Amino acid sequence: MPPAPVPSPHLDDYQSIVGAAVIDELRFLARDLKGKTVKMVNSTAVGGGVAEMLNRLVPLLGELEVATHWDVITGGNDFFEVTKAFHNALHGSAYELTRHAQEIFLSYNEQNRQRMQFNEDVVVIHDPQPAPLIRARQDGPSRWVWRCHIDLSNPHPQVWGFLRPFIEQYDAAIVSSQSFARQLSIPQYLFYPCIDPLSEKNKELEDSFVQKVCDEFGIDRSRPIVTQVSRFDRLKDPVGVVQAFKLARKYVDCQLVLAGGGASDDPEGAIVLGEVREAVGSDPDVIILDLPPWCALEINALQQASTLVVQKSLKEGFGLTVTEALWKGKPTIAGAVGGIPNQVIHNLTGVLVHSVEGCAYQIRYLLTHLEFAAQLGRNGREHVKENFLMTTNVQRWLLLLQILLRSGAA
Ligand code: UDP
Repeated sequence: MPPAPVPSPHLDDYQSIVGAAVIDELRFLARDLKGKTVKMVNSTAVGGGVAEMLNRLVPLLGELEVATHWDVITGGNDFFEVTKAFHNALHGSAYELTRHAQEIFLSYNEQNRQRMQFNEDVVVIHDPQPAPLIRARQDGPSRWVWRCHIDLSNPHPQVWGFLRPFIEQYDAAIVSSQSFARQLSIPQYLFYPCIDPLSEKNKELEDSFVQKVCDEFGIDRSRPIVTQVSRFDRLKDPVGVVQAFKLARKYVDCQLVLAGGGASDDPEGAIVLGEVREAVGSDPDVIILDLPPWCALEINALQQASTLVVQKSLKEGFGLTVTEALWKGKPTIAGAVGGIPNQVIHNLTGVLVHSVEGCAYQIRYLLTHLEFAAQLGRNGREHVKENFLMTTNVQRWLLLLQILLRSGAA
């Protein structure tokens, strides 16, 4: 059973991390927005980075008196199979867009449109799944924004061609990396995703708790621990991580922890988990953890216990797991894809890899050059503090709301 929800931190609680000036600035920016209303809509309440961010962004905007409501669209398995295929196709996979898939996509969106109310000053629709909800827009001053969290640098032409007319009805689009901007008739903004340093996922933990979690999962802290935390998704390349680990372990002692779980909008998880188990075989040094979505403290403990963190994605919107690892000062090895290079500056805040062999080499190198690895970890934490914390994200939202509401004269 999920534990009882933990009370959200308040703005002042962030002062000890980011300083008083940052908090004052947020209050200043929010002054003219008091009483305005915002609705955020996405496709899952748990699992994945978008839910993770909304969980914190929504109460913080509320504390600044910008009343923010979060709604999740609903759909059957057929809907989420189509949206997952769209997701993969927008990341560049081959796909045949059928009329049937389009009908499923549009009919669930239509059901959600009829069920939901949109009376807010600003409506923010996250990702492609609910993009057609723009059809609910009425004449009037309300502003609609499409917040895209995925890598659009090389989208499947048919799927993008199908979605684009919806996107161009919005007032603005937000992308997570410069390289994801498309040719669009609407303004595009760059928002880096962020983590909450005070959340259960990222706060500092007592070492006794970290030890307890490791004991529970059979992880030996006296040996190096290499960890990847990710949904069991092929684009996160968990099988590639297993292969890299097996290559590296020929030269250096280590254990591999693969911690993951599902998201309610991702039907492929169980199949991929099966592929991972097959690649691992009976290797006693690989610990696979299929965790429910309410294990933030356990994931935090696993990240804190790690000697190295790997995120060997083949495609990635941004990779919050990378941000989480860097914030914890962990030497991080990550695929040079999507938004990851914004976080991992090669040989400065972590290392970037392009292949199984490259990943294996870096595991071996960092485990045998611990002072260099520790310096990467320190630099990584500083980089996150400057750029990817929740307070920076709240600031960007407040500025965008000001711009949108001024142009909409709401
Ligand atoms: N996560 C989790 N449990 C899991 C796997 C992932 O809580 O079993 C979290 C992870 O810590 C991170 C988010 O889900 O906060 C994943 O975000 P990311 O941007 O890395 O990937 P996405 O899943 O959105 O593609």
